[in-house]
Amino acid sequence: MTYTFVTLFPNLIEGYFKDSILKRAIEKNLLEINYLNPRDHSKNKHFKVDDTAVGGGAGMVMNPQPLFDALDDLKSKDEDVHIVFVTPVAKPFVQNDAKRLAKKSHIAFVSGRYEGIDERVIEKYADEVFSIGDYILTGGELASLVLCDAISRNKEGVLGNSESLEVESFETPLLEAPSFSKPQNYEGLSVPSEYLKGNHSKIRSLKLALSEAKTKFFRPEQLLKHKVTQRLS
Ligand code: SAM
Repeated sequence: MTYTFVTLFPNLIEGYFKDSILKRAIEKNLLEINYLNPRDHSKNKHFKVDDTAVGGGAGMVMNPQPLFDALDDLKSKDEDVHIVFVTPVAKPFVQNDAKRLAKKSHIAFVSGRYEGIDERVIEKYADEVFSIGDYILTGGELASLVLCDAISRNKEGVLGNSESLEVESFETPLLEAPSFSKPQNYEGLSVPSEYLKGNHSKIRSLKLALSEAKTKFFRPEQLLKHKVTQRLS
């Protein structure tokens, strides 16, 4: 699977792939990472990529020309590339999107900067647009990395143990039950005693109860979804 990060600041992204799971996935040829800098496609003699907003308003907006040319170039090399823009003005990215997008062969993530991207670029080139939450970042690089990371772990072979995907939060509406590691007692704090007794059916029931309690506390709307799903099944 290939990712192309369309960004004015590739340095902000490169470091993330230099360690851990995604580094190993690149080494195993499961992932390939490319960068495309709109500045390299600017026809401005100073390689400018932004300008003031038409109609007024604070800040600079990314011009259409460098992005049109960069994305045309990308599409001419791979007509199957799936182009994703990250912007706060979009639906939130969720786990089902990560699983669905893991089936694509090539995804390009387009990161905005300044006050954002000229809307005509998004209208012309976006296959999808996503927000990563109701807050404003200085640029789209972190958001693009968030999507890339979440998608990649759903790609076969990227995680050492694919079972870990099955029990995670958001596979069902319930959040995952709390996890504990060794030792069983640490500085006077013990793990729940039921976890230690080896009765797997009791451990499962306890984990379900803890899962429901966590979901009720942190994400009550998810618990409601869980109850509806249970009633329908
Ligand atoms: N003026 C824009 C607005 O109010 O909607 C915000 C622009 S923001 C400072 C610059 C860039 O950061 C955006 O073009 C987008 O690519 C990225 N960005 C900021 N917040 C984001 C979010 N919550 N989700 C996804 N991308 C985001």
